[in-house]
Amino acid sequence: MPAAGFSRRMPLQAAGCGILFLLPEALVDSFQLQVIGEVRSCFKEKFAIPRQPALAPAARGIIELRPPYNQPHALAGLEQVSHVWVIFLFHQALDQQHRLQVRPPRLGGNQRLGVFASRASHRPNSIGQSLVRLERIDEECRLHISGIDLLDGTPVLDIKPYIPFVESVPDAWNRIAEQPPALLPVDWQPAALASAREHARRLQEPLVELIEQCLAQDPKPAYQQPEPSRQYGARLHDVNVVWCYPEAGEILVLAVE
Ligand code: SAM
Repeated sequence: MPAAGFSRRMPLQAAGCGILFLLPEALVDSFQLQVIGEVRSCFKEKFAIPRQPALAPAARGIIELRPPYNQPHALAGLEQVSHVWVIFLFHQALDQQHRLQVRPPRLGGNQRLGVFASRASHRPNSIGQSLVRLERIDEECRLHISGIDLLDGTPVLDIKPYIPFVESVPDAWNRIAEQPPALLPVDWQPAALASAREHARRLQEPLVELIEQCLAQDPKPAYQQPEPSRQYGARLHDVNVVWCYPEAGEILVLAVE
C-alpha cells in the first residue's frame, strides 16, 4: 500500500550556528489520501440516486474494506453503533476545476449557490459524507449499510460513528433546504409491478420500495416538463427501471426488466 504523504510550504524548524530557530507553524499544502474500501451499491448509475442519504431507506449497500482494515480489530466496538458517517470520494465527479459556485438540482438547476453552501458533488477535493444506517457487520468484516446515496464503486476514505448527542441539533436551521423534498405519487403498470416483485424475490432486496422511494423524489431535472410519451430509465441492482410522467407531478412505472 502506498504511504500517505503530505507537503509543506516550509520546514518546521531550522538550526543555525548551534541555535534552534523556531519558524512559524508550517502550512500543509497537500496530503495524499488512501482509499480504505469500496461501496457495493444498489445504484449502478448517478441518475435516480437520492440527493441525500436516508431519503430512500430501502437503498442498501455493502462497504468492502481493504487490508489492513478488513479485520475485526479495526471494527471492534462498531457493533454498538446504529449509524455511521461514510467519508468518500465522488469518483465520478473528479475534476481539477476550482468551482466557486454550483447549481444544485434541488433549486431547479438554474439558481447558483456558493460551493460551500451546497452539498454538490463537484467541490474542492471531491470529498462527500453520508450518514447511513449500519445494519450489520458480517463475518468477512463487510459493513451492510442502508439509506445510502452512493454510487456503486464509490471509494471510501474513512468511516466514523455517529454521535447523536453531539450531531443531532434540534434547533438547527438551513433556509436553503428547509423541508424534505415533496414526494410525487408513483403508480405502476400491473406487469411492471409483477416483474419488480419477481426480481425482489430473486435479489432478496426490497426492490418495489426502492423504486417507489427513489422515483417519488423525481429524479429528472426540475426544469424539464416532459411529454407523457417521453420515457426515463435507471439501473437499480441489475434491473432497468423505465417510467414516464403521464401528468405533471405523477410517475408511472412502465417496466422493470
Ligand atoms: N451525502 C453526500 C454529501 O452531502 O456529501 C452526497 C450528496 S450528493 C448531492 C448526492 C449525489 O451524488 C447523488 O444523488 C449521486 O447522483 C451523486 N453521487 C453519489 N456517489 C457518487 C460518486 N461516487 N461519484 C459521483 N457522484 C456521486
